[in-house]
Amino acid sequence: MNFEDLELNEDLLDALYDMRFEKCTPIQEQCIPYILANRDLIGIAQTGTGKTAAYLLPLLTLLRRDPHPSDAVNCLIMAPTRELARQIDQALQGFSYYMDINGVAVYGGNDGIRYEQERKSLTSGADIVIATPGRLITHLNLGTLDLSRTTHLILDEADRMLDMGFCEDILKIVEHLPEKRQTILFSATMPEKIAELARNIMHDPAEVRIAVSKPAEKISQSVYICKEGDKTGIIRHIFTERKPERVIVFASSKQKVKDLHIRLMKDGYNVAAMHSDLEQKQRDDVMLAFKAQRIDVLVATDIVARGIDIDDITLVINYDAPRDAEDYVHRIGRTARAGREGRAVTLVGERDRMALSAIEKLLNEKIPRADLPEGMETPARTKSGFSEKSAKTGQGNRKNKHPRKNKPQVTSEKSEKDAPTSRPRSETSSPKKSNNRHRRKTRGQKKQAETSD
Ligand code: AMP
Repeated sequence: MNFEDLELNEDLLDALYDMRFEKCTPIQEQCIPYILANRDLIGIAQTGTGKTAAYLLPLLTLLRRDPHPSDAVNCLIMAPTRELARQIDQALQGFSYYMDINGVAVYGGNDGIRYEQERKSLTSGADIVIATPGRLITHLNLGTLDLSRTTHLILDEADRMLDMGFCEDILKIVEHLPEKRQTILFSATMPEKIAELARNIMHDPAEVRIAVSKPAEKISQSVYICKEGDKTGIIRHIFTERKPERVIVFASSKQKVKDLHIRLMKDGYNVAAMHSDLEQKQRDDVMLAFKAQRIDVLVATDIVARGIDIDDITLVINYDAPRDAEDYVHRIGRTARAGREGRAVTLVGERDRMALSAIEKLLNEKIPRADLPEGMETPARTKSGFSEKSAKTGQGNRKNKHPRKNKPQVTSEKSEKDAPTSRPRSETSSPKKSNNRHRRKTRGQKKQAETSD
């Protein structure tokens, strides 16, 4: 289905044309009509499916289609992490490029300047507030934020918010909203606690489910069964086979990330680290540098595993197998985005075997084993039931190679460059109106006349 077939705002369709969004993804095709009909909605979909546009596009349409007060926060979007909040904000900037929409991202950081910026933006009014729960509570407690007229609530990655212990915060926040509202919940999984939350805060929700917990088919997966101490050597081996570019290495603890970062840096790789000990500014800088391809390898904790939209990732390496099998799907989902190909390699040491079993159970398939580099041995069988047989040596797996592909630019230049985190939308959008606006060919005479002005 094309976006033009849905009852979306015309200015929005212009922005989608510029961004080269043509066909809806399945989650978009199924969710957009429900949201446009003002229904509550539960969307079960992981990142990479296009879920952000699935709720932002109809919401922006509703904000313009139906009467909404200009001095109220009309729409609240909650996200578990600053990175996701920021990414949603960037998507919003792209989609609302030709619209006069005020959006404010409220996601914390430890500096007073940032807080003051948020406070000012909130006071001057916002159609849409994108927030992490903790920071939102701070603003509510300090009286900087009034949600009493907010008619649209979106919980993005609700399962992750609950995993992070935000359930009470969410319920507290919901108490500030009017009873009569539209509530939209997106989650990668549907455990009982999400169903319970939905029962508490939603009204007769429609449900859309898009294949959960399955990695994209184009990801070529492999596993190295190795000794814990050989992991860095295997990474070096992989990087020797092919110069690393657009690579993310996930490790499950901050310490491992820091250690590996230092080791790879000493080896001369162009590498950066991403973990929650970094200041917000440092985190932003690292993500921006990686996005802009100034960094080849990003070593990160699961902070980057979900919801973060970084394009062109060719290779994801799991330095360890994540304990939560769902996280495996999220981690490797950073590659092979939007139908492209990618490779995911998992290093399974002695302590990762149980986690590997859980992952393979979830996927319902055995992940192909790669041959260890020469001189390395598979660890011996242990009581844990690990059944890899003899030691394997030889050349690394050469099957899983994919040429790097260029992705069409889908995020707006504006969001890549300016990336303001908290700003009145009108400040950034209005100058564009007078620029040479790139119109869709299918628009009528009236719109064409506007272009030639
Ligand atoms: P999400 O699941 O929202 O994180 O989106 C994953 C990626 O797909 C992002 O880079 C989006 O910009 C891109 N995307 C989402 N919907 C479409 C679409 N209909 N056409 C092309 N790209 C899309």
